[in-house]
Amino acid sequence: MKIKAIEPIAVDLPMHKPVTMAGETVARADNMLIRVASDDGHVGWGEAAAAPTMTGETVPGMIAAVRYLAPPLLGAPADELAAASAAMNAVMYGNNAAKAAIEMALHDLVARAAGRPLYALFGAKLRSRIPVLAVLGSGIDADDLREAQVRWAAGYRAFKIKVGLSGPEADAARTRAVCVLLKRQGESSGEACLVSVDANQGFSVDEALRYVSALGNCGLDFFEQPVHAHDLDGMARVAAASPVPIGADEGIHSLDDIERHHARRAAAGVSLKAIKLGGLRAMRDACRLCDRLGMKVNLSCKTGESSIASAAALHLAATVPALAWGLTLTNAGLAEDVTAEPLSIEGGHAVVPDRPGLGIEVDERRVRHEVSARRVA
Ligand SMILES: [Mg+2]
Repeated sequence: MKIKAIEPIAVDLPMHKPVTMAGETVARADNMLIRVASDDGHVGWGEAAAAPTMTGETVPGMIAAVRYLAPPLLGAPADELAAASAAMNAVMYGNNAAKAAIEMALHDLVARAAGRPLYALFGAKLRSRIPVLAVLGSGIDADDLREAQVRWAAGYRAFKIKVGLSGPEADAARTRAVCVLLKRQGESSGEACLVSVDANQGFSVDEALRYVSALGNCGLDFFEQPVHAHDLDGMARVAAASPVPIGADEGIHSLDDIERHHARRAAAGVSLKAIKLGGLRAMRDACRLCDRLGMKVNLSCKTGESSIASAAALHLAATVPALAWGLTLTNAGLAEDVTAEPLSIEGGHAVVPDRPGLGIEVDERRVRHEVSARRVA
């Protein structure tokens, strides 16, 4: 089975409501889909979100990158997945989101052609029903508290509060209020409850130190990316002072970055996204590395990614050695998805599909004629 065509498709999907984080508000999702076809008639789908402040990649930029990345793959065996990544890396530096979308589509194609679920390409299924993180991203105390209660009632048992928005003391007060509420719910029902916060690089080192000292003992599980991605010294200072384990997200774009954070004691865990690492296999390798180093892992989609990227993250999550900091899927935040039946999240948990490939069906007619056309208009 050889790769016959690699086609990028720009989509623009509305969100139910904007997600506010430090440095960015995502009100609509600007994503690139990839459709790959094999010479024997199989098709696979991949996706990457534009993330100008995280990967530096935009939809037009990713589509331009695909013009460089596709030619060496055309005619190559579709199931040589490591070779495909190596071929892309040989012709182009960086552009990990564009590479990830192509690599994801190849995984879907190969798994579909074999009639196996995508997770089977990575090994045994270790989890079949996985709690997903509910993101509380209003930045407003009352709204985040209300959303936390609604999500708890709906079955969510893992949460992420966006901070770095309204000053360290006000953010700490909001964190405490939400965290205490959720941890109390967990204790009274006897259920595990994961609560995290994410500053998305929004604090200076001094602000992050003020934030952690104002947190008190509220039971928070981890604090993601307090300061700028490249400020490992700052990360290490916050980690040394913080009662809560520190995670790195925007600072992690490679396995080397993970090693560096570990060596500098700048993070106790990481958030891994396909768009940052360049594909699912790199994510899998990063998970193994974290396991060896004793670092915690959160697997995540970028805000606004549809059922395609969400299904890919879910399949990988089913197989990785450990997933202590949870799984963040994003398709439920979209008012419009690209599949006839969106990946289902029931009671705050995602069920790993056993159908071939990603286990979802992209509505190609809608993608081409409605979603894509609206973008051009
Ligand atoms: Mg993050």
